[in-house]
Amino acid sequence: MNNKIWLSSPHMGGSEQKYVNEAFEGNWIAPLGPNVDGFEADLVSFTGARHAAALSSGTAAIHLALIMLNVQPGDEVICQSMTFAASANPIKYVGAVPIFVDSEEDTWNICPDLLRECIMDRLAKGKKPKAIIPVHLYGMPSKMDAISAISQEFEIPIIEDAAEALGSHINGKNMGTFGDLGILSFNGNKIITTSGGGALISDSENYVREARFLATQARDKADHYEHTKIGYNYRMSNICAGIGRGQMEVLTNHVEKRRANFNYYKSELSGIDSIKFLDEPLGFYTNRWLSTIYVEPTLNREISKKNIYLDLLQDNIESRPLWKPMHMQPIFRDAPFYSNGVSELLFRNGLCLPSGSNLVDDDLKRIVSLIKGVFK
Ligand SMILES: *Cc1c(COP(=O)(O)O)cnc(C)c1O
Repeated sequence: MNNKIWLSSPHMGGSEQKYVNEAFEGNWIAPLGPNVDGFEADLVSFTGARHAAALSSGTAAIHLALIMLNVQPGDEVICQSMTFAASANPIKYVGAVPIFVDSEEDTWNICPDLLRECIMDRLAKGKKPKAIIPVHLYGMPSKMDAISAISQEFEIPIIEDAAEALGSHINGKNMGTFGDLGILSFNGNKIITTSGGGALISDSENYVREARFLATQARDKADHYEHTKIGYNYRMSNICAGIGRGQMEVLTNHVEKRRANFNYYKSELSGIDSIKFLDEPLGFYTNRWLSTIYVEPTLNREISKKNIYLDLLQDNIESRPLWKPMHMQPIFRDAPFYSNGVSELLFRNGLCLPSGSNLVDDDLKRIVSLIKGVFK
């Protein structure tokens, strides 16, 4: 059996263990400590956001962001349908109602025209949505200029889900810093990992201070334990943050390697008519967290993404269909959805190829030659 090639596996840079050892030596085996402070400072300096809170997951960050925006039971929150469930699940945690919006073809992310239609329709139905959650799927930035303009026009704040997009930017402005609040993820499969973790970033000191307070069980100042708010245990541990500090040192390398993966796939596979790649709109820079292809099944003898998926699998190579949109998920069956058909086509015909920053040339060659073989 050939060696396993993963879709996106952890890739340590080398100095992670140094920071973890420091945590052991200082006995900072806790959800606070120098690595947590250091990692937050790294995130601030890399993204350009004024403040960052390191948390136990990206999902926790979205949950806290919704609480910061005072989203209450019964409120409506608009969310990109083409995403991973963790973008939308926290809407349910706070008892609110998700309203899903379809994607557009240039970025595969939330369609600004449809977003506007959706807001007008919700307003006509008598309810003003409390937040908008755009997602930068696979690292490709959403059209934040248009989305921010709509947010300002209707005075609806943005929670930017940049879980997959650390290192992506539009004209030099990093993803996660366009919205009122942004969230990042450091799950094991993301572009950098803390084994599991996330962050909330914002220019608002109040939001980040309050989120930190809630994330550490909302303990009021007192000698005894005193609580005037419901708290959460959402803080990142000082051990995990040590891994994060080491990973920040190699983030830029990871972005370059992932972009090189994409460029290799594109140059090798562009001869196959039915395989399409998603290019960057002008001024957009994607970290290419995952390299994705769109397979037109009507060309090339009806060969579909499923054929590629299965042939790769047989050779011990992991690929994955593009994420199944939220409006198609059983858990969100009853949620309103503003549709143009794009995300369903993406799900039906799209495939994520192995994309790790630790792939070697032989891995990439093996993958490409198998895909070419499918079309022989
Ligand atoms: C990974 C991911 C999340 C959740 O992050 P966790 O750290 O795994 O909780 C949220 N949104 C998107 C788009 C993701 O890919």
